[in-house]
Amino acid sequence: MERLLIVEDSKSLAKMIARKIELELGCEVDVAYSMSEAKLFLKRYRYFLVLTDLNLPDAQNGEIVEYVLGTGNHVIVISGNIDKTFRAVMLKKNIIDYVNKSGVNDINYILQTIARLQKNKNHTILVVDDSLVFRKQLQSMLENMFFKVITVAHGEEAIGILHTRNDISLVLTDYHMPVMDGLQLTSEIRKLYTKNDLTIITISSDDKEDTTALFLKSGANDYIKKPFSKEEFSCRINNSIEALENIHAITNHANRDFLTGLYNRRYFFATMQSYFEKALREGEKFAIAMIDIDHFKKINDTYGHDTGDKVINAVADVLRANTSQNDMVARFGGEEFCVILKNIAPLKALSIFENLRAKIETCSVVATNGENTHCTASIGVLLTPEESLEESINQADMLLYSAKQQGRNRVVSN
Ligand code: GH3
Ligand code: MG
Ligand code: MG
Repeated sequence: MERLLIVEDSKSLAKMIARKIELELGCEVDVAYSMSEAKLFLKRYRYFLVLTDLNLPDAQNGEIVEYVLGTGNHVIVISGNIDKTFRAVMLKKNIIDYVNKSGVNDINYILQTIARLQKNKNHTILVVDDSLVFRKQLQSMLENMFFKVITVAHGEEAIGILHTRNDISLVLTDYHMPVMDGLQLTSEIRKLYTKNDLTIITISSDDKEDTTALFLKSGANDYIKKPFSKEEFSCRINNSIEALENIHAITNHANRDFLTGLYNRRYFFATMQSYFEKALREGEKFAIAMIDIDHFKKINDTYGHDTGDKVINAVADVLRANTSQNDMVARFGGEEFCVILKNIAPLKALSIFENLRAKIETCSVVATNGENTHCTASIGVLLTPEESLEESINQADMLLYSAKQQGRNRVVSN
C-alpha cells in the first residue's frame, strides 16, 4: 500500500484531505502539523508522495519544500499563497505541482492528481532527442511524474526499441535530429502502432507556421512548442496518457464478457478467423471445443440466478487457470464456452479437456443459502477442422450434443 505524508498546520484541513485520500485512493496517510514533526516522519518512512503547505508554524516561507526534496521524496505543494512570483519560484524547484487550497474543487484536483500519479507507474515513455541535456531534463520531469522512462539519441534507435518491446505507451520526440528526424520517426511508428496503441508527442522549438499541422497529420497526437512551462508539459502528457487509458478501457469492455471477463463471441470471431486460416495454411494442429454446463437450469431453479452466475464464474476461472495465455477462452453466452487450444497435438489436447472436465466436476461454489453446490460440464472437441471456422464450431457443437446424449459430464471428440 502506498504511504503519503501531509504537512499542514490547519488540523481540520489536514484531516479532511487525509481521510479522503485514505477512503478514495486506499493509501496510508501520515499527518504532520509542523516542519519538525514532518522531519520525524521523513526520517522514519520513505513516501510515495508528500503534500505540503508552505506556511508552517516553525517554517513560514516554504523551507519545507527543499527539505523534503532533499530526502528524495516527491512533493506537491498545497498553498493559500497566490502570489505569482512566489508560485513561479516554487515551480522552478523539482515539485510535481502547486495547488491552491481554497475550496472543494482544489481537494478534488489533488485527489485526481494522486490517482493519476498512481496510474502513471504503469506506463513507459520513450524519449527521443539528440541533445543529451534535453534528454536528461525530460527524463527527470517524467520520472518526477512517476513514469518509467527510456531515453534514446535518435530515431533509428527508437524504432529498434519499438520493434522489440510492446509496452511503450508514449513516444516523446524531438523534431530536428540527424538521419531520421521526428517527422519521419512519427510516420515510421505509425506503420507499427496505431493511435489506439501508442501516443506520439513532438517537442520542438521549430516556429514555422505549418510544423504543428505537419506532425498532427503524420500521426502525432500532440505538439509541444519550446519553451514550455512545466505545468503545460505535465498537463499535456497526463491528458494524452489518460486518453490512451480510456481507449484501452473501451476496447477491453467491447471485447470481453461482462460477467466472467472472458473474451466474448464477437472478439472470438474477430481474432480467431485469421488464426484459423493461418493454422490451416501452415498445417498447425489445434483443437476447438464447445463446453456447456450440465443441467444448469436446475442450479438457477434451486439456488437462484446469483448462484447460477457464481457457478458460471467458477467454470470460467477453471478454464482460464488451466489453459495457456496463448489459447482462446471465450464465453459464447449463457453457460456455454468455446475454447481453442493452439499449436497442440490431438492427444495432448484431449488430455487437457479431460482435465478441465475433472476440475469443473470437483469445483465447489457456496450458494446464496450457504450450501455447497457443484456442477459438471459436457465437452465436444473437434480435432480435425472443417473448411471454415463457423463449420468447425458447428461440428464441435454436434460433438457436444453427442456428449449430452451419452449422459453428460464427458468429453466427446471426432
Ligand atoms: P443441458 O445439460 O442440456 O445443457 O441443460 P441446461 O439446463 O444446462 O441447459 P438450458 O439451455 O436448458 O438452460 C440454460 C439456462 O441458463 C437457461 C437460462 O435461463 C440460464 N442462463 C443463461 N444465461 C445466464 C446467466 O448469465 N446467468 C444465469 N444465472 N443463468 C443464465
Ligand atoms: Mg447447459
Ligand atoms: Mg445451454
